Amino acid sequence: MDEKLITLNNLKIFAEELLKANYTLILQDKQGIRWEKISNSDELHISSKLKPTKASFKEFVFSKTEPIFYFNNKNDGVELIDSNLSAEKMVFFGSKPCDAKSINIMSKVFNWDYKDNFFNTKAENSIVIGMLCEYRDEFCFCTSVNLSPVSSDGSDLFLIPTDENNFAIRIVTEKGREFIQPFLKLFAEGNPETTDQIFKKINLPEKGFESEVIRSWIGNNFEHKYFERAGEICLGCGQCAFVCPVCHCFDIVDEECGYSCGRRMKNWDACQFSLFTLHGSGHNPRHNQTQRYRQRISHKFKYYVDKFDEILCTGCGRCSRGCPVGIDIGQIAKEVHSLAANKV
Ligand code: SF4
Ligand code: SF4
Repeated sequence: MDEKLITLNNLKIFAEELLKANYTLILQDKQGIRWEKISNSDELHISSKLKPTKASFKEFVFSKTEPIFYFNNKNDGVELIDSNLSAEKMVFFGSKPCDAKSINIMSKVFNWDYKDNFFNTKAENSIVIGMLCEYRDEFCFCTSVNLSPVSSDGSDLFLIPTDENNFAIRIVTEKGREFIQPFLKLFAEGNPETTDQIFKKINLPEKGFESEVIRSWIGNNFEHKYFERAGEICLGCGQCAFVCPVCHCFDIVDEECGYSCGRRMKNWDACQFSLFTLHGSGHNPRHNQTQRYRQRISHKFKYYVDKFDEILCTGCGRCSRGCPVGIDIGQIAKEVHSLAANKV
């Protein structure tokens, strides 16, 4: 794997050059709330020790709300006008591995039976500059879902701090190689063996469960009472889905502007909402919160794996940090692992 070196000063010049070349630079805000666009390189603050933001960068590639098309009622029929697809060139700068992997995971569902051009256009115009992560808390569990704080999976380029003012940068994908090409004068040659030594010294979160065990247990225990444990306290607020880097459900709603015109909107939705599966007849096949919580866990650890060979979770811990009633998905997965081990 090719590797370069760059000083902090040159990293700022790199950011300035990208802004001049009309890239939108997006990075974690200093308050730990969300990812935000910066307009000059003085705002470039990157650190491997930042706490994950409350919201992931998902909203930039999968919009919270966006028009699919507009319609006008005319005397001779209905006129449909396509929505413009964004061609904004975006760079996610200093992404933790548990965020960097999100675009690849969501690409599977957005390119399955139907190709979602809204997502694909934004994903194709995005570069992910991942970064080694040195933040840990009780909610992180990336090592249990086939990731790690040193994983470059999902990144195009991967930053590794070598000291306060210097970084190594790994070229991970061909897209990353082409992207960096015009700026090579800012980089020196690196040595992958040196960064391998850095990786070896990184303290990894303890692996709490085997995802394959969870998948198999869910497949055999659809009606298990264990799901009531979370289902009985879950408020159905949907916070967990909205902050998640890989939850991708959406609803489609027509908004009228009067008799003659309107637009068809695509809006984020969440399987924890009671209306999510409500049929027009009034029947709701998931009529209680236990069934909805079971769906959340099953989709992440079984159905998505069965369909796409990918766990629908990066172990970022966001949903657990923010849950108003303290439901901790990593803890639940550990408990399911224990149930499976004890054949309960
Ligand atoms: S954040 Fe917690 S309470 Fe809200 S829907 Fe998710 S699991 Fe339920
Ligand atoms: S389910 Fe929770 S821990 Fe897993 S990726 Fe989503 S927010 Fe992160």
